[in-house]
Amino acid sequence: MKKISVVIPMYYEEQVADECTNRVTKVLKSIKDEYDYEIIYVNDGSKDKTLEILEKQAKKDKHIKVISFSRNFGHQAAVTAGLKYVTGDAIVIMDADLQDPPELIPDMLKEWENGYEVIYGKRKKRDGESAFKLLTAKAFYSTINKLSDIDIPKNTGDFRLVDRKVVDVVNTLPEHNKFLRGLFSWVGFNQYAYEYERKERFAGETKYPLKKMLKLASDGIISFSTKPLKIVGGFGIFSVIVSILILIYSILSYVFKWNNLTAGWTSMMCTMTFLGGMILISLWMIGEYIARIYDEAKDRPQYIIKKTINL
Ligand code: UDP
Ligand code: MG
Repeated sequence: MKKISVVIPMYYEEQVADECTNRVTKVLKSIKDEYDYEIIYVNDGSKDKTLEILEKQAKKDKHIKVISFSRNFGHQAAVTAGLKYVTGDAIVIMDADLQDPPELIPDMLKEWENGYEVIYGKRKKRDGESAFKLLTAKAFYSTINKLSDIDIPKNTGDFRLVDRKVVDVVNTLPEHNKFLRGLFSWVGFNQYAYEYERKERFAGETKYPLKKMLKLASDGIISFSTKPLKIVGGFGIFSVIVSILILIYSILSYVFKWNNLTAGWTSMMCTMTFLGGMILISLWMIGEYIARIYDEAKDRPQYIIKKTINL
Protein backbone atom coordinates (compact mmCIF):
# COMPACT_ATOMS: atom_id res chain seq x y z
CA MET A 1 0.00 0.00 0.00
CA LYS A 2 1.22 3.49 -0.79
CA LYS A 3 1.88 5.83 2.08
CA ILE A 4 1.37 9.55 2.57
CA SER A 5 3.52 11.61 4.93
CA VAL A 6 2.31 14.99 6.10
CA VAL A 7 4.94 17.39 7.46
CA ILE A 8 3.67 20.20 9.68
CA PRO A 9 5.91 22.74 11.46
CA MET A 10 4.64 24.29 14.68
CA TYR A 11 5.76 27.37 16.50
CA TYR A 12 3.57 28.50 19.38
CA GLU A 13 0.54 26.72 17.95
CA GLU A 14 -1.16 25.43 21.13
CA GLN A 15 -4.42 26.98 19.98
CA VAL A 16 -4.50 25.09 16.70
CA ALA A 17 -2.65 21.83 17.48
CA ASP A 18 -5.72 19.74 18.31
CA GLU A 19 -7.89 21.10 15.53
CA CYS A 20 -5.06 20.55 13.07
CA THR A 21 -4.65 16.88 14.01
CA ASN A 22 -8.41 16.33 13.95
CA ARG A 23 -8.85 17.82 10.50
CA VAL A 24 -5.81 16.15 8.94
CA THR A 25 -6.58 12.78 10.51
CA LYS A 26 -10.19 12.92 9.35
CA VAL A 27 -9.10 13.50 5.77
CA LEU A 28 -6.45 10.77 5.84
CA LYS A 29 -8.78 8.27 7.48
CA SER A 30 -11.30 8.82 4.70
CA ILE A 31 -8.76 7.43 2.20
CA LYS A 32 -7.13 4.87 4.47
CA ASP A 33 -8.24 1.95 2.32
CA GLU A 34 -5.94 3.15 -0.43
CA TYR A 35 -3.18 4.88 1.50
CA ASP A 36 -1.38 4.38 4.76
CA TYR A 37 -0.31 7.63 6.42
CA GLU A 38 1.83 9.40 9.00
CA ILE A 39 1.79 12.94 10.34
CA ILE A 40 5.16 14.38 11.28
CA TYR A 41 4.99 17.43 13.52
CA VAL A 42 8.07 19.54 14.00
CA ASN A 43 7.97 21.63 17.15
CA ASP A 44 10.22 24.55 16.30
CA GLY A 45 11.16 25.46 19.87
CA SER A 46 7.75 26.64 21.07
CA LYS A 47 7.70 27.34 24.78
CA ASP A 48 3.92 27.14 25.19
CA LYS A 49 1.90 23.92 25.46
CA THR A 50 2.43 22.90 21.82
CA LEU A 51 4.83 20.05 22.61
CA GLU A 52 2.73 18.83 25.52
CA ILE A 53 -0.35 18.62 23.29
CA LEU A 54 1.58 16.84 20.55
CA GLU A 55 3.00 14.34 23.05
CA LYS A 56 -0.49 13.49 24.20
CA GLN A 57 -1.66 13.01 20.63
CA ALA A 58 1.33 10.84 19.77
CA LYS A 59 0.68 8.59 22.75
CA LYS A 60 -2.86 7.91 21.55
CA ASP A 61 -2.13 7.59 17.85
CA LYS A 62 1.01 5.96 16.44
CA HIS A 63 0.43 7.68 13.11
CA ILE A 64 1.50 10.89 14.80
CA LYS A 65 5.24 11.48 15.07
CA VAL A 66 6.96 14.39 16.68
CA ILE A 67 10.35 16.02 16.24
CA SER A 68 11.15 18.69 18.78
CA PHE A 69 13.95 21.26 18.31
CA SER A 70 16.19 22.53 21.08
CA ARG A 71 15.16 26.11 20.20
CA ASN A 72 13.51 28.10 17.43
CA PHE A 73 15.34 27.49 14.16
CA GLY A 74 12.68 28.85 11.81
CA HIS A 75 9.98 27.52 9.55
CA GLN A 76 12.26 26.42 6.69
CA ALA A 77 14.53 24.51 9.06
CA ALA A 78 11.51 22.82 10.64
CA VAL A 79 10.16 21.63 7.31
CA THR A 80 13.65 20.54 6.22
CA ALA A 81 13.95 18.40 9.36
CA GLY A 82 10.54 16.84 8.79
CA LEU A 83 11.49 15.93 5.22
CA LYS A 84 14.49 13.95 6.49
CA TYR A 85 12.23 11.65 8.48
CA VAL A 86 9.38 11.00 6.06
CA THR A 87 8.79 7.41 5.04
CA GLY A 88 5.89 7.96 2.62
CA ASP A 89 5.70 7.75 -1.17
CA ALA A 90 3.96 11.11 -1.38
CA ILE A 91 4.79 13.92 0.99
CA VAL A 92 2.52 16.82 1.88
CA ILE A 93 3.94 19.99 3.41
CA MET A 94 1.44 22.25 5.12
CA ASP A 95 1.10 24.91 7.81
CA ALA A 96 -0.35 24.12 11.20
CA ASP A 97 -2.79 27.01 11.18
CA LEU A 98 -5.10 25.36 8.60
CA GLN A 99 -4.74 28.23 6.15
CA ASP A 100 -3.99 25.50 3.65
CA PRO A 101 -7.03 23.20 3.88
CA PRO A 102 -6.06 19.54 4.43
CA GLU A 103 -9.32 18.59 2.68
CA LEU A 104 -7.53 19.25 -0.61
CA ILE A 105 -5.06 16.40 -0.08
CA PRO A 106 -7.18 13.69 -1.81
CA ASP A 107 -7.56 15.94 -4.84
CA MET A 108 -3.84 16.64 -4.96
CA LEU A 109 -3.19 12.92 -4.67
CA LYS A 110 -5.19 12.42 -7.87
CA GLU A 111 -2.76 14.67 -9.72
CA TRP A 112 0.11 12.72 -8.18
CA GLU A 113 -1.44 9.48 -9.43
CA ASN A 114 -1.71 11.16 -12.84
CA GLY A 115 2.07 11.38 -12.87
CA TYR A 116 2.81 14.84 -11.51
CA GLU A 117 5.71 14.90 -9.08
CA VAL A 118 5.34 18.33 -7.52
CA ILE A 119 1.82 19.60 -6.95
CA TYR A 120 2.20 23.06 -5.46
CA GLY A 121 -0.63 25.06 -4.00
CA LYS A 122 -1.20 28.33 -5.81
CA ARG A 123 -3.29 30.83 -3.91
CA LYS A 124 -6.25 32.15 -5.86
CA LYS A 125 -7.57 34.30 -3.12
CA ARG A 126 -6.11 35.14 0.25
CA ASP A 127 -8.69 35.55 2.99
CA GLY A 128 -8.02 37.58 6.06
CA GLU A 129 -4.53 38.73 5.21
CA SER A 130 -3.63 42.36 5.67
CA ALA A 131 -3.11 44.67 2.71
CA PHE A 132 0.47 45.03 3.94
CA LYS A 133 1.09 41.28 3.76
CA LEU A 134 -0.42 41.06 0.26
CA LEU A 135 1.65 44.00 -0.95
CA THR A 136 4.93 42.73 0.51
CA ALA A 137 4.27 39.24 -0.84
CA LYS A 138 3.71 40.67 -4.31
CA ALA A 139 6.84 42.81 -4.11
CA PHE A 140 8.83 39.79 -2.95
CA TYR A 141 7.80 37.51 -5.81
CA SER A 142 8.32 40.13 -8.48
CA THR A 143 11.77 41.02 -7.10
CA ILE A 144 12.90 37.44 -6.80
CA ASN A 145 11.70 36.57 -10.29
CA LYS A 146 13.43 39.57 -11.81
CA LEU A 147 16.65 38.84 -9.99
CA SER A 148 16.93 35.10 -9.93
CA ASP A 149 17.82 32.58 -12.58
CA ILE A 150 14.77 30.38 -12.04
CA ASP A 151 11.06 31.11 -12.00
CA ILE A 152 9.52 30.77 -8.60
CA PRO A 153 5.76 30.61 -9.07
CA LYS A 154 3.90 33.62 -7.69
CA ASN A 155 1.46 33.29 -4.81
CA THR A 156 2.92 29.98 -3.80
CA GLY A 157 3.92 29.12 -0.28
CA ASP A 158 5.24 25.84 1.01
CA PHE A 159 1.90 24.04 0.76
CA ARG A 160 2.49 21.22 -1.70
CA LEU A 161 2.41 17.50 -2.36
CA VAL A 162 5.68 16.03 -3.62
CA ASP A 163 6.81 12.67 -4.78
CA ARG A 164 9.34 10.72 -2.73
CA LYS A 165 11.94 11.04 -5.55
CA VAL A 166 11.87 14.82 -5.33
CA VAL A 167 12.16 14.85 -1.56
CA ASP A 168 15.17 12.53 -1.81
CA VAL A 169 16.83 14.98 -4.18
CA VAL A 170 16.12 17.97 -1.93
CA ASN A 171 17.36 16.03 1.11
CA THR A 172 20.71 15.37 -0.53
CA LEU A 173 21.34 19.02 -1.43
CA PRO A 174 24.18 20.11 0.83
CA GLU A 175 23.17 23.72 1.45
CA HIS A 176 22.19 24.63 4.97
CA ASN A 177 19.95 27.62 4.50
CA LYS A 178 17.34 25.92 2.37
CA PHE A 179 14.79 28.12 0.66
CA LEU A 180 12.41 25.26 0.01
CA ARG A 181 9.87 26.75 -2.34
CA GLY A 182 12.73 27.85 -4.58
CA LEU A 183 14.45 24.47 -4.44
CA PHE A 184 11.25 22.58 -5.24
CA SER A 185 10.92 24.70 -8.34
CA TRP A 186 14.63 24.49 -9.18
CA VAL A 187 14.74 20.66 -9.14
CA GLY A 188 12.40 20.45 -12.12
CA PHE A 189 10.28 17.26 -12.49
CA ASN A 190 6.62 17.41 -13.56
CA GLN A 191 5.11 20.36 -11.77
CA TYR A 192 1.43 21.09 -11.35
CA ALA A 193 -0.04 24.37 -10.09
CA TYR A 194 -2.97 23.46 -7.90
CA GLU A 195 -5.18 26.50 -7.39
CA TYR A 196 -6.92 26.93 -4.08
CA GLU A 197 -8.35 29.54 -1.79
CA ARG A 198 -6.16 30.33 1.16
CA LYS A 199 -8.23 30.55 4.31
CA GLU A 200 -7.89 32.63 7.41
CA ARG A 201 -5.73 31.43 10.25
CA PHE A 202 -7.79 29.06 12.45
CA ALA A 203 -6.58 30.73 15.66
CA GLY A 204 -3.68 32.71 17.01
CA GLU A 205 -1.41 35.23 15.34
CA THR A 206 0.97 34.95 12.42
CA LYS A 207 4.39 33.65 13.44
CA TYR A 208 5.99 35.53 10.57
CA PRO A 209 6.72 39.06 11.74
CA LEU A 210 8.32 41.49 9.30
CA LYS A 211 11.82 40.59 10.44
CA LYS A 212 11.37 36.89 9.63
CA MET A 213 9.74 37.78 6.32
CA LEU A 214 12.70 39.94 5.33
CA LYS A 215 15.11 37.14 6.29
CA LEU A 216 13.15 34.67 4.16
CA ALA A 217 13.09 37.12 1.26
CA SER A 218 16.83 37.80 1.38
CA ASP A 219 17.60 34.08 1.73
CA GLY A 220 15.44 33.45 -1.30
CA ILE A 221 17.03 36.11 -3.44
CA ILE A 222 20.61 35.46 -2.43
CA SER A 223 20.48 31.70 -2.69
CA PHE A 224 18.98 31.86 -6.18
CA SER A 225 20.75 34.80 -7.74
CA THR A 226 24.06 36.57 -7.98
CA LYS A 227 22.49 39.52 -9.77
CA PRO A 228 22.73 41.84 -6.75
CA LEU A 229 26.51 41.49 -7.05
CA LYS A 230 26.35 42.40 -10.71
CA ILE A 231 24.17 45.39 -9.95
CA VAL A 232 26.97 46.55 -7.67
CA GLY A 233 29.29 46.52 -10.68
CA GLY A 234 26.76 48.71 -12.49
CA PHE A 235 26.83 51.22 -9.60
CA GLY A 236 30.60 51.40 -9.91
CA ILE A 237 30.61 52.05 -13.63
CA PHE A 238 27.85 54.63 -13.27
CA SER A 239 29.69 56.57 -10.60
CA VAL A 240 32.95 56.49 -12.55
CA ILE A 241 31.17 58.03 -15.54
CA VAL A 242 29.59 60.69 -13.35
CA SER A 243 32.94 61.58 -11.81
CA ILE A 244 34.59 61.89 -15.25
CA LEU A 245 31.82 64.30 -16.32
CA ILE A 246 32.36 66.35 -13.17
CA LEU A 247 36.09 66.38 -13.80
CA ILE A 248 35.64 67.68 -17.36
CA TYR A 249 33.23 70.31 -16.12
CA SER A 250 35.63 71.45 -13.39
CA ILE A 251 38.55 71.81 -15.78
CA LEU A 252 36.46 73.71 -18.31
CA SER A 253 35.04 76.02 -15.67
CA TYR A 254 38.60 76.72 -14.40
CA VAL A 255 39.92 77.47 -17.87
CA PHE A 256 37.01 79.62 -18.99
CA LYS A 257 36.35 81.18 -15.57
CA TRP A 258 32.63 80.22 -15.59
CA ASN A 259 32.16 81.13 -11.95
CA ASN A 260 33.96 82.60 -8.93
CA LEU A 261 32.74 80.18 -6.28
CA THR A 262 35.26 78.52 -4.06
CA ALA A 263 36.30 76.19 -6.76
CA GLY A 264 35.09 72.65 -6.52
CA TRP A 265 33.18 72.70 -3.27
CA THR A 266 29.81 71.65 -4.69
CA SER A 267 31.19 69.02 -6.99
CA MET A 268 33.42 67.66 -4.24
CA MET A 269 30.49 67.29 -1.90
CA CYS A 270 28.36 65.67 -4.58
CA THR A 271 30.94 63.11 -5.58
CA MET A 272 31.96 62.36 -2.03
CA THR A 273 28.50 61.65 -0.71
CA PHE A 274 27.48 59.87 -3.88
CA LEU A 275 30.54 57.66 -3.99
CA GLY A 276 30.40 57.05 -0.25
CA GLY A 277 26.83 55.84 -0.57
CA MET A 278 27.62 53.64 -3.55
CA ILE A 279 30.57 52.09 -1.79
CA LEU A 280 28.60 51.36 1.34
CA ILE A 281 25.72 49.81 -0.59
CA SER A 282 28.19 47.69 -2.55
CA LEU A 283 29.95 46.53 0.57
CA TRP A 284 26.63 45.64 2.13
CA MET A 285 25.60 43.56 -0.91
CA ILE A 286 28.91 41.76 -0.99
CA GLY A 287 28.73 41.38 2.77
CA GLU A 288 25.40 39.58 2.50
CA TYR A 289 26.96 36.97 0.26
CA ILE A 290 30.06 36.62 2.39
CA ALA A 291 27.91 36.22 5.49
CA ARG A 292 26.15 33.33 3.81
CA ILE A 293 29.36 31.79 2.55
CA TYR A 294 30.67 32.02 6.09
CA ASP A 295 27.50 30.45 7.38
CA GLU A 296 27.78 27.52 4.97
CA ALA A 297 31.52 27.17 5.58
CA LYS A 298 31.01 26.73 9.31
CA ASP A 299 28.99 23.69 8.38
CA ARG A 300 26.84 23.86 11.46
CA PRO A 301 23.58 21.95 11.31
CA GLN A 302 20.50 23.88 10.28
CA TYR A 303 18.69 22.68 13.39
CA ILE A 304 19.24 20.65 16.56
CA ILE A 305 16.77 17.97 17.56
CA LYS A 306 16.16 17.59 21.26
CA LYS A 307 13.60 14.84 21.20
CA THR A 308 11.64 12.63 18.84
CA ILE A 309 8.49 10.65 19.52
CA ASN A 310 7.27 7.59 17.57
CA LEU A 311 10.22 7.90 15.21
N1 UDP B 1 6.54 28.39 11.96
C1 UDP B 1 7.64 27.70 12.48
N2 UDP B 1 8.72 28.41 12.94
C2 UDP B 1 8.76 29.77 12.92
C3 UDP B 1 7.65 30.47 12.36
C4 UDP B 1 6.56 29.76 11.89
O1 UDP B 1 7.65 26.47 12.51
O2 UDP B 1 9.74 30.35 13.35
C5 UDP B 1 5.39 27.62 11.45
C6 UDP B 1 4.03 28.03 12.03
O3 UDP B 1 3.76 27.32 13.23
C7 UDP B 1 3.08 27.63 10.92
C8 UDP B 1 3.91 27.87 9.66
O4 UDP B 1 5.28 27.89 10.08
O5 UDP B 1 2.73 26.26 10.96
C9 UDP B 1 3.55 29.15 8.95
O6 UDP B 1 3.55 30.22 9.85
P1 UDP B 1 2.40 31.32 9.89
O7 UDP B 1 1.09 30.66 9.62
O8 UDP B 1 2.51 32.07 11.16
O9 UDP B 1 2.82 32.24 8.67
P2 UDP B 1 1.85 33.03 7.67
O10 UDP B 1 0.81 32.04 7.22
O11 UDP B 1 1.29 34.14 8.44
O12 UDP B 1 2.77 33.45 6.57
MG1 MG C 1 -0.35 30.97 8.39
